[in-house]
Amino acid sequence: MSNGPERHFASSYGEARKKFRDAAKAADAAIESHQNTHANGPRGEPLYTDVARLGPAPGEAQGVLFLTSGTHGIEGYCGSGCQVGALREDVLAELPDGVAVVLTHAINPYGFCWGRRVNEDNIDLNRNYVDHNGTYPDDSNYREVHGMICPPDLMERKDEWDAKAFAWLEERGMAAFQEAVSSGQYSHPDGIFYGGNAPAWSNGMWRSILDVHGRVAEKAIFIDFHTGLGPSGYGEMIGLGGAESIARGREIWGEGEVTDMHDGSSTSAVVRGDMGTPFFEIMESKWATAIALEYGTVDIITVLDGLRKDNWLYLHGDRESDLGQEIVAGTRACFYTETDEWKAQVFDRARGTITRSLSALAP
Ligand SMILES: [Zn+2]
Repeated sequence: MSNGPERHFASSYGEARKKFRDAAKAADAAIESHQNTHANGPRGEPLYTDVARLGPAPGEAQGVLFLTSGTHGIEGYCGSGCQVGALREDVLAELPDGVAVVLTHAINPYGFCWGRRVNEDNIDLNRNYVDHNGTYPDDSNYREVHGMICPPDLMERKDEWDAKAFAWLEERGMAAFQEAVSSGQYSHPDGIFYGGNAPAWSNGMWRSILDVHGRVAEKAIFIDFHTGLGPSGYGEMIGLGGAESIARGREIWGEGEVTDMHDGSSTSAVVRGDMGTPFFEIMESKWATAIALEYGTVDIITVLDGLRKDNWLYLHGDRESDLGQEIVAGTRACFYTETDEWKAQVFDRARGTITRSLSALAP
């Protein structure tokens, strides 16, 4: 049994869930479990989002810190490890007066259990919080590239399709390519970064968690754990919400720490309909800030290629075949670096970020 932070991290959804629940119980947290009845795991396992609350009950806490893992399913290995570590290593042991912490584990349990970034409907949950009764954001650039990045015969003619995609990238540049592919699209359910055409189960779940635990608070901070962008092991704080939220985040975590998707300082393209959207709706005009804590793994081309293959496998391939298992392992490596060094870096950054958040919420 190791003593380093790597012991907080798991190698399956089931193991992660057990570690989280055990750590939450040991910390005397109030725990709720919510089953996603729309899907099961690959071996028929039931899928749950677990919520642990520390500190005063809703209505008695003026400040709330939300720590959420698994928005992008498989990225939950990282967020879960940080949550478990925070619970076990007394990062949350002495909360300031009137401050509660709400840890949401595996908000997209399907993606976590299946090793996919998306949910049971191939939806990117972090693009799903848009007005589904209105007009969807313009995704015309995605429409241009969809055919070359997600063709049904991707794996049979990989070199040809790659050449076409690289030609588009060369002509328009990497930033335009990343924007086209990853901003979120609402026209291709068989594509990647698909935002859905209705609110996902996890969307409703997250809104109800915010409603119960956030609405009555006066101050709130939300940290959503992600992986797959930026230098390996480094945690970029991507500011969510408007200018006021980002300015507040910079006061809390440091001027140079919080990046902005709108001014080119972030490794992320501008994203539509992210998890911060309902958070800021619930908090209305009250004191609030939110970040995606985004940890690097491997380079972006490898990550995007991994997502194309994962999507192809889901729609056209056989998960149990040798190729299927190779793709599953490849996707996992895009979002989870299973070395002690990476896990220690990740947890160290999480610890500092959480500690500063608690100080900012103190009365
Ligand atoms: Zn993510």
